[in-house]
Amino acid sequence: MSDEKDWTWVLERPCSECGAAVQTLSREELAPRIRSTAAAWRDMLGRGALVTQPPHGASRTWTILEYGAHVRDVFDLFEDRIRTMLKKRKPPTFKDWNQDDAAKGYADEDPNKVAYVLASNAGKIADILDRVKGDEWAKEGKRSDGAEFTVESIARYLIHDVEHHLWDAHQILDGD
Ligand SMILES: [Zn+2]
Repeated sequence: MSDEKDWTWVLERPCSECGAAVQTLSREELAPRIRSTAAAWRDMLGRGALVTQPPHGASRTWTILEYGAHVRDVFDLFEDRIRTMLKKRKPPTFKDWNQDDAAKGYADEDPNKVAYVLASNAGKIADILDRVKGDEWAKEGKRSDGAEFTVESIARYLIHDVEHHLWDAHQILDGD
């Protein structure tokens, strides 16, 4: 999902498409949820990599492999953002990230490698979140479009993002 699209409403209410209700999770549930979503993504890449084209006439333009590679990079990006928020005394402003530029070449990647690195990146974030305590959850950071996050809200935002794309991938498998 691009920084240019504002998906911050998912922090207030359940997503009407994928059904994720990230606002209801406790802080203790965030890291385990990231690990379980990463496991589901590995499974999805194992099954879905055989689907090399988006279904004919589909509204989605990415294949499951491309979604998976995007999610791998999203985990990597958010790990960097969360680490920076925790480290800096003053709230950092994140560099913009253009997902379409990043997506060039995703279709040629090796699905097994994507799955492996996706899980590894997710594990790094989960390990960081496991160690966050007290006031650290409220440490802030800002996106270049002005949207403000805390460590807690960006973790919730991330979980919706990667679960929403899992939902996208399921739609492709089911022949959307
Ligand atoms: Zn959603």
